[in-house]
Amino acid sequence: MQDIAIRAVNAARQFGASYADVRVVERTTEGIEVRNGRVEGVARSTSYGFNVRVLVNGAWGFASSAQMELAEVEKVAKQAVQIARASALVAGEPVRLSPLPPQKGSYSTPIKIDPFSIPLNEKVQLLLDADTAMRSVKGVTLTGCFMEYSREHKYFVSSEGSEIEQVLYDTGAAISASAVDTESSEIQTRSYPNSFGRQAGTAGYEFVVAMDLPQHAARIGEEAVQLLSAPQCPSGVTTIILDGPQLALQVHESCGHPIELDRVLGYEAGFVGKSFLTTDKLNSNYHYGSDVVNLTADATIPGGLGTFGWDDEGVPAQRTPIVTQGIFTGYLMSRDTAPLIGLSSNGCVRADSWNRLPMIRMTNVSLEPGNWKLDDLIADTDDGIYMSLNKSWSIDDRRLNFQFGVEMAYEIKQGKRGRMLKNATYTGITPQFWGSCDAICGRDEWNVWGTPNCGKGEPMQTMRTGHGAAPARFRNVQVGVGRWS
Ligand SMILES: [Zn+2]
Repeated sequence: MQDIAIRAVNAARQFGASYADVRVVERTTEGIEVRNGRVEGVARSTSYGFNVRVLVNGAWGFASSAQMELAEVEKVAKQAVQIARASALVAGEPVRLSPLPPQKGSYSTPIKIDPFSIPLNEKVQLLLDADTAMRSVKGVTLTGCFMEYSREHKYFVSSEGSEIEQVLYDTGAAISASAVDTESSEIQTRSYPNSFGRQAGTAGYEFVVAMDLPQHAARIGEEAVQLLSAPQCPSGVTTIILDGPQLALQVHESCGHPIELDRVLGYEAGFVGKSFLTTDKLNSNYHYGSDVVNLTADATIPGGLGTFGWDDEGVPAQRTPIVTQGIFTGYLMSRDTAPLIGLSSNGCVRADSWNRLPMIRMTNVSLEPGNWKLDDLIADTDDGIYMSLNKSWSIDDRRLNFQFGVEMAYEIKQGKRGRMLKNATYTGITPQFWGSCDAICGRDEWNVWGTPNCGKGEPMQTMRTGHGAAPARFRNVQVGVGRWS
C-alpha cells in the first residue's frame, strides 16, 4: 500500500502536477439479512484500489485503478495529470488549497470485538432470535432484521509530505416489525433502535451486543400491532417533543446538508442541491435557531459514524461550532472551498470508494445536549405530541421547507403521556422551526445516531454520517396526518 502511494505521488509530480495526493483503499463489508424467520442473504464484498488526484495549472485531475501493480501506478498518475491539463483549458478561478502542515501518523477505530471475528452462525442466530420474538406477537405479519459491518484500511500520501494510515470499522444493526390490517390493507411498522436500515457507529461488534435486539423485539412487535387501532394524529398547531433518532434526521436534513460549503457555493448545484445558508449569513448574527440551540460538526466523537482520524484530504479530525446559541457560525469545508470564504479546511472531505473524487460530507453534525430530563420535559408540557423514529421525509432544494412523518406518536396532556397516535407528521421552515426550540434534554439522554446511507454527488456517493441528539421540544409546530399506503 505504502509503496504504491509514494510511487504514485512521485510519478504525478514528475509529470508536472503542482500538488498530488494518493489514496489506497481496501474496504470489506459483510451484511446479514433475516426476513420473516428466514435468512434472506449473507453478502460479503471487498473493494481494493487506488487513485491519484492532482492539481495542474490550478485545475483538478483524477484517475484510479484496481490493478495494484507498480507498472499501473505511472499510467494512472499520467492519466490524472492529462485530465487536469485538459480541465485547466476551461477558464475559471484556479484552485487554491488552504494550508496544511505535513501530517504523519495512524488512526484505528477503537473496537473491543472485531465483528469479522465472530462466527457467522452466531451473528445470524442473534438476528433469528430477535425475529422469533417479534413474530411471537399476535398480529405481526412482516419482520426484518439487519446487520452490516465494514473494515476500511486506507493509506494517504500527499506531495506536501503527509503520510497517513487508517483502519476504520463501522458496525450496525436494526430490527423492524410490521402489522397489516387485511381489510383496509393499512400497514404499520415499528423499528429498533432506528428506522431506515440500521443504527450504526464506528465501533466493533460490542455496538450490536449493546443494542440487545432480542430484548426489544416483542415490544416493537406489540407497538406495530397497537398502531393499527390507534387514533390518527390530530391536525393543528401544537407543541412537539421529538425523540433522538428523529431529531438526528432533522439535523441531517435541515442543518447538515445546507452547511456543505460546496453546495452553498453552487458547485454542481444540479446534483448537490442548494442552500439557504448563504455566505453572507456566516458570523453575521444570523439566527438559525433559538438561543438554546447549539450545533457542532465533530469528527472526534467516540463511536460516531462520522468519526475518523483524518479526512480524505489528510486534514485532522476536528470539532467546528456550526450554530452557537442560535447564531450561524460554521460550514463543513474542504481545502479548495474554504479559501474562497477566507478560511481553512475543517476536515470534512471523504470519498465512498478509491475510485471516487472526495467531496464535502458531514462528519458528526450534532445538536448539543441541554439540561432537561425527558420525564420533566413531558411533565412541563400542557398539551402536545411526542414523536418517535422517522418514517418519511421531504425537504426542498434549499433545505427550508420540510415535512417529516414518524412511526409512532403519543399525545401529551397536562404533563402526562397519553394515547398512542398513528401517522403523525410535522412541517416547518428551518430557521422558524429551530427558533421555536425551547428545551433540549441532557447528556444522559444524548446519543449519536448513525445515518449510513447519505447520498450526494454524480455519480452518487453513499456516505456514513453521525448525529448526536437528545429529545427536544419545539413550540407552535404544524402537525397533521400523513397518508401512507
Ligand atoms: Zn444526506
